[in-house]
Amino acid sequence: MLPPGSTIGILGGGQLGRMLSVAAAQLGYRTHIYAPDSESVAADVAAHHTQAAWDDEPRLAAFAAASDVVTFEFENVPVDTVRFLSGHVAVRPGVAALEVAQDRLAEKNFVVSVGGRPAPFAPAPDRTALDTAIEMVGTPAILKTVRMGYDGKGQAQLAAPADADAAWDAIGRHPAVLEGFVDFAHEFSVLLVRGIDGEVRYWDSPVNVHGAGILASSSLPAPAAVAGQQDAARALMAEIAEALDYIGVLTGEFFVGADGPIFNEMAPRVHNSGHWTIEGAVTSQFENHIRAVAGLPLGDTATTALPVVMRNLIGADIAAVPALLADGRAHVHHYGKAEVRDGRKLGHVTWAGAEPEA
Ligand code: AMP
Repeated sequence: MLPPGSTIGILGGGQLGRMLSVAAAQLGYRTHIYAPDSESVAADVAAHHTQAAWDDEPRLAAFAAASDVVTFEFENVPVDTVRFLSGHVAVRPGVAALEVAQDRLAEKNFVVSVGGRPAPFAPAPDRTALDTAIEMVGTPAILKTVRMGYDGKGQAQLAAPADADAAWDAIGRHPAVLEGFVDFAHEFSVLLVRGIDGEVRYWDSPVNVHGAGILASSSLPAPAAVAGQQDAARALMAEIAEALDYIGVLTGEFFVGADGPIFNEMAPRVHNSGHWTIEGAVTSQFENHIRAVAGLPLGDTATTALPVVMRNLIGADIAAVPALLADGRAHVHHYGKAEVRDGRKLGHVTWAGAEPEA
């Protein structure tokens, strides 16, 4: 168990690192943010900040020496960075989870190997292979880059095989995977935390609504169709966590399929669809992630307030903050980012035990 006053190093400087830092502070820890970007909304609330490149070994070594344990809030931290740090300090979760989650194809193959069911898929490493993939998967389909895709970026839809050229150009001609389009009833996520001793706890699965590939809202109670597939999806995520010897919060995103949950993707970190746990659960995803990586006992994950609705404030939505503050029941989270850009997550708002007004 990490004693109070210890320092938790966090790779990545965004809002997830900011909320992890707040949770760490509550437990008596300091955080040290390591990220290459000049702006860091996590560093704004952390005790220490290193702004350096992911491959700057002297700075990484100094960061490791100053940290009692290291975690990450961003799944595209280069694997070599985490491997280097692992030679100096405990990194939780470890390299294995990061490696799988950074490569859509490896992730799907891994999930199949532990008994999960993704949408039909085929590799499309180049333009010629895309034609073969279309023959295997059919259309409609979605072409997704193997690496660096998030929030709907690096994705293109194909209504028919004739869209292959346009889709290939749209994703920047990077190695990709073609996925059959799932005509799902709902989307939901499994949020779990696995402790240092292997204990696993789950939060209730929220129903997630996306717009243009970006999460718009997560709410509970979820429709019966989600609740009915939650256990099967949890069992799969527990297998994954076990196989990766995972420590911390792990997220799996699923579609409600006609005959069981269809795995979409996983994130080896706290997740946007778990933000509601700050006000809607006994222990938030951020606190339990810190507890897990620090070797503390896990907190209770029970939902404390229903309904609970979390809405993202994306781009121009942030202008709604004054009106939201006027609603005394709205829990407003402003990430403190300087620049308002379309599609950028700038904050979120949660109603716990109350319906939003509009
Ligand atoms: P992803 O970045 O892969 O999570 O995709 C972002 C969103 O696009 C998902 O949450 C879905 O709303 C939608 N989407 C992704 N893949 C599929 C699919 N195979 N079928 C239907 N919708 C999808």
